[in-house]
Amino acid sequence: MLWPPSMDLLAPLAPWFDQVRRDLPWRALDLDAMHPDPYAVLVSELMLQQTQVATVIPYFSRWLDRFPTPRTLAEADEDSVHKAWEGLGYYRRARFLKAAAGSIAAEGWPRDLEGLCALPGLGPYTAAAVGSIAFQWPTPALDGNAFRALARLLLMEGDPKRGAADLRIWLTPALEAHGPSRMTQALMELGATTCLPSPTCTACPLSDRCGALLAGRTAEIPPIAKRAKPKASALWLVAFEAKGQVLLHPPALRGLLAGLWRWPTLDPDLYPPQPIAPDAPSVTAWPSWIQVYTHRREAVSPLHFRLTARFTPIEGLRWMPRSELRNLPLGKRDQRLRDLLDTPGQIPLEAPDSSALLRACAAPAR
Ligand code: SF4
Repeated sequence: MLWPPSMDLLAPLAPWFDQVRRDLPWRALDLDAMHPDPYAVLVSELMLQQTQVATVIPYFSRWLDRFPTPRTLAEADEDSVHKAWEGLGYYRRARFLKAAAGSIAAEGWPRDLEGLCALPGLGPYTAAAVGSIAFQWPTPALDGNAFRALARLLLMEGDPKRGAADLRIWLTPALEAHGPSRMTQALMELGATTCLPSPTCTACPLSDRCGALLAGRTAEIPPIAKRAKPKASALWLVAFEAKGQVLLHPPALRGLLAGLWRWPTLDPDLYPPQPIAPDAPSVTAWPSWIQVYTHRREAVSPLHFRLTARFTPIEGLRWMPRSELRNLPLGKRDQRLRDLLDTPGQIPLEAPDSSALLRACAAPAR
């Protein structure tokens, strides 16, 4: 590792950040002191994983109004926690945050980075970010933005994440010299606002010393990782309604959708569209949409069947009062059908055979 000392190379970042820093609700005014509310830092860091700052801001403020301390969050019921997270996605983060709050409420804040890493949901990056921003520990936090900026600055070949351990050692003196909270946030800010995938080097405080800029290689450093093509699938998203109740899957305990209520989904290959039969129950449809996830894309076709009587559903489905729908935590896709139910749909020319759908969701008669 033949890099110039970080405390010298990164020195212009500190005054630059003091000048350009965005006013974010979780940012302390005094970057030289311990953060007045470490819990706010923890909440913001968990929310900011995979989610843009602009999206997080209103959630963050509502969250702190609702759960102002680790104890209030630890004691809140799961449904209200998922409801408060509704729309942010990656719901595991809400469960981790609640579990971490439980540990902090019971045992207090950890005293070192290892202790933070042991809290649920805190990987090396989040633990280091909380350590430096909340507690002023010289623990370098490297997210994708920081890796990109440092790879260019230091003219690193290949994937900079492979050099994470060296980068952390190299960065530590800069945090000690210029302040852990300030330097951590300055590096994040540089990557988030200036050293973007297409960087604005003219506005960069490090442009006179940036290896990639001086070598004319900012476009190729770091190399862009190839992403696997998302898997495509299609589904019917079905709201059965009878006598003021709707049919839903209650939340699973584990997995990506743990904690969320869901509408039944059915495979269009098994339940193909057919001309609507004259004696079919009343059915409404809305235009399909593409729901995009990190690793898959779903073509979603929403349907609403109004039945005259409730049937006994198969295990894993439950009738719930429609009036309760707004109080139940739902994922983005399922929220969309919930919202559609309040808007006029159309009677489709074709829909899957309703009796086949009912057979899929109804328990066999005894
Ligand atoms: S000069 Fe350009 S490429 Fe180098 S760190 Fe600054 S913004 Fe990034």
